[in-house]
Amino acid sequence: MPETMLAALSSIRTVDEMVEAFRDEEHCRRLLETMVWPDGRICPACGYKRSIALAGRDTGKRRARPGLYQCSSGDCRFQFTVTTHTPLHSTKLPLRVWLKAMWLLLQSDKGLSSVRLAETLGVSQPTAWRMGHALRLMVARENMLAGTVEIDHFPSRWKTQKAAG
Ligand SMILES: [Zn+2]
Repeated sequence: MPETMLAALSSIRTVDEMVEAFRDEEHCRRLLETMVWPDGRICPACGYKRSIALAGRDTGKRRARPGLYQCSSGDCRFQFTVTTHTPLHSTKLPLRVWLKAMWLLLQSDKGLSSVRLAETLGVSQPTAWRMGHALRLMVARENMLAGTVEIDHFPSRWKTQKAAG
């Protein structure tokens, strides 16, 4: 299993491999979980290393969705998903869109404008701009946590103009 998110994405070489890797949300969620939690799930609120999957359980309001977990610490009981407390949490975009954007950025030696990203992913330009910002935070966060990740090939500069209006 790849040790880091960037290493995992770098192992995908072709568009065909990318399509296979990101074929549905469930697969993308599992992929992202192995990237974010290479040593097992960790509660983002307290750091406790034991949690239970709530999928299919009645949580009072409605049945819990796949990928929802609850911290097993008696003092915490925080409910979280793989994106909770990460830069990806701020949007409602499907995970496959995020993973494709990450992959595209890693493939582009000279950086990728938010306009180009928007066209490629089929999202609005402001959304693509926010995604670029979130992904750079995500990479910086992983770089800080892992300490050893080489991101020389990651675009260091984005065209950061916002859409008019
Ligand atoms: Zn916790």
